[in-house]
Amino acid sequence: DTIGVHLDRIAQRWPDRPALVVRQQQVRWSYREFNERVDAMAAGLVALGFAPGERIGIWSPNNAEWVLTQFATAKAGLILVNINPAYRLHELKYALNKVGCRGLILASAFKTSDYIAMIREVCPELVYSQPGALESKSALNLRWVIRLGTEKTPGMANFADIAAAATPASRERLAGLAGELQFDDPINIQFTSGTTGNPKGATLTHHNILNNGFFIGEAMRLTEQDRLCIPVPFYHCFGMVLGNLACVTHGACMVIPGEGFDPLAVLQTVSEERCTGLHGVPTMFIAVLDHPEFARFDLTSLRTGIMAGSPCPIEVMKRCTTRMHMNEITIAYGMTETSPVSFQSSFDDPNERRVSTVGRIHPHLEVKIVDLEGKIVPPGRPGELLTRGYSVMRGYWDDEARTREAIDEARWMHTGDLATIDEEGYCNIVGRIKDMVIRGGENIYPREIEEFLYAHPKISDVQVFGVPDPKYGEQLCAWIRVKSGEALTAEEVVGFCKGQIAHYKIPQHIRFVDAFPMTVTGKVQKFIMRQRMAEELG
Ligand code: ATP
Ligand code: MG
Repeated sequence: DTIGVHLDRIAQRWPDRPALVVRQQQVRWSYREFNERVDAMAAGLVALGFAPGERIGIWSPNNAEWVLTQFATAKAGLILVNINPAYRLHELKYALNKVGCRGLILASAFKTSDYIAMIREVCPELVYSQPGALESKSALNLRWVIRLGTEKTPGMANFADIAAAATPASRERLAGLAGELQFDDPINIQFTSGTTGNPKGATLTHHNILNNGFFIGEAMRLTEQDRLCIPVPFYHCFGMVLGNLACVTHGACMVIPGEGFDPLAVLQTVSEERCTGLHGVPTMFIAVLDHPEFARFDLTSLRTGIMAGSPCPIEVMKRCTTRMHMNEITIAYGMTETSPVSFQSSFDDPNERRVSTVGRIHPHLEVKIVDLEGKIVPPGRPGELLTRGYSVMRGYWDDEARTREAIDEARWMHTGDLATIDEEGYCNIVGRIKDMVIRGGENIYPREIEEFLYAHPKISDVQVFGVPDPKYGEQLCAWIRVKSGEALTAEEVVGFCKGQIAHYKIPQHIRFVDAFPMTVTGKVQKFIMRQRMAEELG
């Protein structure tokens, strides 16, 4: 099925169940109302001349329009291009040049003059012909700039103009499209997080992400009774697949606390909306758990949710199951290139395994762990994780060379992550190959030391990575965030490690920091920390 056909079926089955709640915008739509709005927008896109296969970018944080756009573009057969709202001129240019969008949807909070200036810079030959439509002679072929909100801007259309453009003819054309679109048509270009450097544009199909969303929802046992709080960004697969698609494939309700991540808003949303699920990357759960007003909120409605995106510390998982009542929280592992999830723990797993591993391989996918020569390693031994199956992306958009590096001839996706799988199929992510530290010939996995240091009662968050060292090649460095109100010294940290972990695993350089450099998706960018330390150490 295509995503559009699937949404129609769900809306028919549960027309009166809530589909979407966006607190900041006072939006509360049932599946019937949501689907009607999606149809109106899709018919409007057709009327404005968007044809199947054309790209339309959305450069906005989370809001109701984002969700409408996600499903309306799917119904109209367009390829949605997720553009990170933190992108500025350089990255916008890169993304638009790479992908060639015919339309671009802008958030309303963006300061108009700045954005017009940026768009003019990207597309200098823009001539405004009729309101909203651009006569573009540039190779970018950008014709429509559409802004959210009600403010009128010369040369730009407003979001409401799209649905208003729908005509009986465009509605008829849309109905016809439902039968023509294929499940393996590309539907989405998502840029990777940029944790290790420059983001890459993964091309995904209906088949890729609709199935993945469905199996994620199955693993969480979502039903039409569930209300999932989604504070993770939509412009990334965590929000739009683990959040929106997992809900829509099960008739569950998407509950959006606000545009960006705010731990207090999450606490308020969960308690006031009686949410049954909550998603987040580990840093988000830490921020919620450590919030000074945490104890004030009733979180007893929570049952499930997913922690994913980067290594999930056991301590944090345990606090979620106890203090946040998330007895059925699961860890998922995935990457943008695989739609994204390939491993997920299930609550049938023994508790210890559910908090300490990423679970077992998702249905209908294959996995192997190989050494540097590509030979399969014995169970329990670390090696590179490779996955294969329906979830593997088409490729990187317009980038044959990098696609061939990532996906081999037998269609195995090379993840760049180190992992082990035990006899029973439970997978442990050891870390990224790029983050492994080699100190005087010893392989060190920073994750292991991070887990050890998390057990220290005064440590809130910690990141361990390698820095160049003249004697050993690399040395370990730890950046530590101390819990609020506590004090800690480097000597105490070293003392805590001594006798507990091997001497060569004890961080040589220890720094106390207030924050880590992070991607806007909340992932810690170790490559930036490494650069800063290299500068400091000369
Ligand atoms: P880029 O590829 O641009 O450097 P990125 O790899 O962070 O950024 P994503 O596709 O968002 O971009 O993230 C996928 C990566 O996140 C995985 O390859 C893995 O390293 C990490 N990851 C995801 N889930 C987990 C998890 N549960 N435990 C450990 N690591 C995880
Ligand atoms: Mg990656």
